[in-house]
Amino acid sequence: MQPTGKPPTISLALFRKMALLTAGSVVLSLSITALIMVLTGQTGAMTLALAIAGFCPLLVTPPATYVFCRQTLELQAAHRALGEAHRNLSEIHTRLKAAHEDLEHRASHDAMTGLANRERFLAHLSELKRQSDSGFLLMIDADHFKQINDLHGHDAGDRALLAVGQAIAGSIRASDLGARIGGEEFAIILRGSSAEDAALIAERVRANVEKISLSTADGSPLKVTVSIGGTAFGPQSRSKEIMRQADSQLYLAKRGGRNRVVMDDKATRAA
Ligand code: GH3
Ligand code: MG
Ligand code: MG
Repeated sequence: MQPTGKPPTISLALFRKMALLTAGSVVLSLSITALIMVLTGQTGAMTLALAIAGFCPLLVTPPATYVFCRQTLELQAAHRALGEAHRNLSEIHTRLKAAHEDLEHRASHDAMTGLANRERFLAHLSELKRQSDSGFLLMIDADHFKQINDLHGHDAGDRALLAVGQAIAGSIRASDLGARIGGEEFAIILRGSSAEDAALIAERVRANVEKISLSTADGSPLKVTVSIGGTAFGPQSRSKEIMRQADSQLYLAKRGGRNRVVMDDKATRAA
């Protein structure tokens, strides 16, 4: 592998190391040679022996030290480059993961309210039935919303929808799923809920939307209400049928004067 870090050069530190090791080798070589000559009684040839003993390490140690140190430096540079590549890779991995999560979130959530979108809502409903779960479905529709837009403008309408989304999110439990399934239409899936709880949550949503306090561009209060229809579902129910049932109750809520909750007989019987 080609090291991509800073290339090793003969630095002052490397030169010092070479000089130190060479001096050490020369001293050691001279000492050992002198000792051997004395111990073997060959002091006559001492000068020649010492010259050879001094010259050899002087000749061999600097290049050997250089090669050794250079390889060490190259290894260190390669190690640094590897560390850097590893850091870059984990950074890329983290960014990719975040981008993937962001894409997944965008694909399954409504951009305006942050609630689940229609696709996620339908998928969740199918998934619950696949798991043989039962619960309640609430269909929610903003009342006379066209009028709000016509009277106060589309921006005010958007602010009202955002506030309705927040009221829904703030009225449900962690196990429930709140969704915006159309323009001014919302839905809530209440997993494993009793009819009593479903009616309570539906009423809480209605009341919380009624409490929304917004004002129009000219400062006058902007009121928004919702009508809610609810129905029970079980593992055998078909998604389309459940939605049709809840829509029928929603229609009754509209016909009954709006800003109200109507749960179907099945739901009431289950209570
Ligand atoms: P009803 O009480 O019977 O439901 O009356 P409505 O006026 O709410 O129903 P209608 O279906 O006649 O009108 C729905 C309105 O909702 C019309 C449409 O412009 C508005 N709307 C849908 N989506 C949006 C949106 O994203 N922003 C805004 N500002 N308005 C929207
Ligand atoms: Mg509608
Ligand atoms: Mg409406």
